[in-house]
This record gives sequence, C-alpha cells and structure tokens, in this order.
Amino acid sequence: MNYSFNNINWPNFLFIASTTLAALIGVPWYIMTYGWGDSVIWSMAFFYYIATGLSITLGYHRLFSHKSFSAKWPVKLGTLMFGAAAFENSAMSWAADHRRHHKHCDHDDDPYNALEGFFHSHVGWIIFKNSDPDYSYVRDLQKDKLVAWQERNYVLIGALVGFAVPAFIGWSWNGMAGALGGFFIAGVGRLVMVHHFTFLINSLCHTLGSQPYSNKSTARDSAITALLTFGEGYHNFHHTFQHDYRNGVKFYHFDPTKWMILLLSKIGLTGNLRRVPDEKIQQSRAKHQQEKLDEKMSARSIQLPVSVQDQLNAAKDKLEEAYRHWEELEAEYAKAMNRKIKESKDKIHELQVEFAVAQERFREAFDEWKRSHQLALTQFA
Ligand SMILES: [Zn+2]
Ligand SMILES: [Zn+2]
Repeated sequence: MNYSFNNINWPNFLFIASTTLAALIGVPWYIMTYGWGDSVIWSMAFFYYIATGLSITLGYHRLFSHKSFSAKWPVKLGTLMFGAAAFENSAMSWAADHRRHHKHCDHDDDPYNALEGFFHSHVGWIIFKNSDPDYSYVRDLQKDKLVAWQERNYVLIGALVGFAVPAFIGWSWNGMAGALGGFFIAGVGRLVMVHHFTFLINSLCHTLGSQPYSNKSTARDSAITALLTFGEGYHNFHHTFQHDYRNGVKFYHFDPTKWMILLLSKIGLTGNLRRVPDEKIQQSRAKHQQEKLDEKMSARSIQLPVSVQDQLNAAKDKLEEAYRHWEELEAEYAKAMNRKIKESKDKIHELQVEFAVAQERFREAFDEWKRSHQLALTQFA
C-alpha cells in the first residue's frame, strides 16, 4: 500500500479526521459545559451505540455479507438505516469488500490485508486510495430493493439518522443544550467509538488470540476482542465457517450479535439460522490440533513413547471413521427429509435412530481422541 501524500483518499480522510477532531473537542467541551447530568442524552447515545454497532455486525456482516440467516423487512430496514448512521459505506459496498476479504484473506486482493500491518487493516485501507468495491461479489444484493435503496441514498440516510435525528431529539427535550448533546454525544462521539470498535474486527481480530480451527489465515479467536466488537472476536471460527450465524460457537461465548439474531427469530423477524453441525466443527478442530501437534513434534524432533503414539493413532482412526459414518448418515437423512412425502414414516424413523447412534459414536470417539491428545501434549511439559 502506498502511504504517500499523493495517495490520500481525501473524502474519506477528511471525514475520519473531522469526526475524530469534533469528537475529541466536542465531547469534553459538552461535558465541561453541561456536566454528566442529562440522562436522556446519555441513554440516547447508548442506544445509538448499540443500534449502529449491531447494524454493522448483525446487518452488514452476518445478514447481507454472509446470508447466515434470513430476515423480514423491518430488520433489513432497521439495520440499513442505522448501518448508514455508522458511516462505513453502503451495505452493498461493505459486503462487496467483505466477501473479497474472505475470498482472498491475507493476499493482495484482500482490501484489508492484515499482513500489511495493524494500521493498514484498521484504518489505512480507508484513508488511503484502495481499489473500489467490486460489485461482481454482490449481484444478489443488487436485486434486493431495500439494499439498492440504501445504496442510492446512503449519505443522506446516514446524515439524517446519525446526526440530525439525535440533535433534534435533544433539542425537543432540552433546547440548545440538548441539541448539542445529541449531536456531540449520540452523534459524533458515538460514531467515532463505533468506527474504531468495528475496525478492530479487521485489525485486532487478525492479530490477537488463538487459532483453534485453522491457521490458513491470520484470523484469530479472542474473548477480549469479542467483548469489544459485539461478539465478532471469534474470528478464527468465523473465517473457517463463515456462513454460521454464530461467531462465538459455545453458548457462553460473548456474542451479543448471535443472541440478538436468536431473539429476533423467537418473534419471527429472522429465520433459517444457519449452524454448522457440532460434529463438523469438532472434526475440523481435531484435525487442526493434530496438525499442530505433528508440527511441534517435528520442529523439536521429539518422538512420543510408543504406547502414547499407538493410543493416539487408534483414537485418530476411530474418530475419522466415526466422522465418515456420521457424514454419510447425515446426507442420507437430509435427503430423506427433503423428499419426505415419498418416504414412509418408518423409514424416516429408522434413519433418525441410526443418525442418533452415529452422533453418539462420534461424541465418544471425540472424547477418546481428546484424552489421548491431552496425554500426547503432556509429553512436552
Ligand atoms: Zn477477517
Ligand atoms: Zn465475515
């Protein structure tokens, strides 16, 4: 990336610079002048922070870019309007860049290639000239009427929803002081925070954390970045299984975006939540851990004791076999369900039972593999 003066993307640079300056000056000035007392302003700022942040993670990211669930129009409209107020481009351009990021992760064609450094993936790619969004990635979204409407009116929607509305609400509540609070706290200050916390998904989520599923890309899992990014911190999982509506796959993983999608599904506003089966996730995890162990052993030229190695090999084979069996039955079961009218009830039931047994067998094999893997790891202590 060329970081020279001549290569500055002026509209983006001026927008980022002016909002940052306005927040750095306006927020302390407002607090010093009017104090912390106006709970309406602070509640509105909090609401705006959550609404615009979630519109990026739930709307722009998991819905429009990855189609990891389907949504009724109120969810689409809401995330498109508050997403515009996060000023991170239109949903269509955002998705075009993001799909390219997944396809060419860590390579020249990745618009926010993390291998070009933290600054580049965080904000450098925005404020310096970069390739334009490639719309061939978003032909499906071009056909979506709401997305296309937002694409045409993105700046106006952003300015109205992001700045004018909070200033107006503040003004109706408390005159000039309220208008200034609405503008500086819920408008500009909130915007700069949402910018940097969501930018962390491209920078910190590719720098900090572990790689339990794959090291094919720089994407990493971290509970800390999850806390900062509305749950997007489980980025290694996300890059491995990008169509899963969850990023934090365990129920206790901090992922408010996932919880919101689930909550909206309970009231019928979202549906078809895509989940990668546990068996697939565990198998991919086991495979990657095994590769890491092999690399570690050859790097240190260590050999495991014969008994440990034998146990590990047997567990690996058993797991592989259990997975293959599960995979076959899963496909067969899905096929039968798709044409269930033709299948007799008995046949479906039979498959169900067989499938449950295969699941159980996989779970057992996985536990056994985990134990022998642990045992192998202790040899390095
Ligand atoms: Zn990424
Ligand atoms: Zn993604």
